[in-house]
Amino acid sequence: MSCPICGRETMHRYRPFCSKRCAQIDLGRWLTGAYAIPAEEEDAPGEEDAVPDRETPPTRH
Ligand SMILES: [Zn+2]
Repeated sequence: MSCPICGRETMHRYRPFCSKRCAQIDLGRWLTGAYAIPAEEEDAPGEEDAVPDRETPPTRH
């Protein structure tokens, strides 16, 4: 049996996946449909509601 995500050999611990990552990827797909989890992110840093910097026009005198 091989991992349905990446095709590698399945680990018993993470059946039917090869790793925790692949299990999470599959779970994410299942939960969100077509949404793909970025491969490099392991833990979500929480909600960051950063306000984007606005370009302030130069002040005139
Ligand atoms: Zn895998």
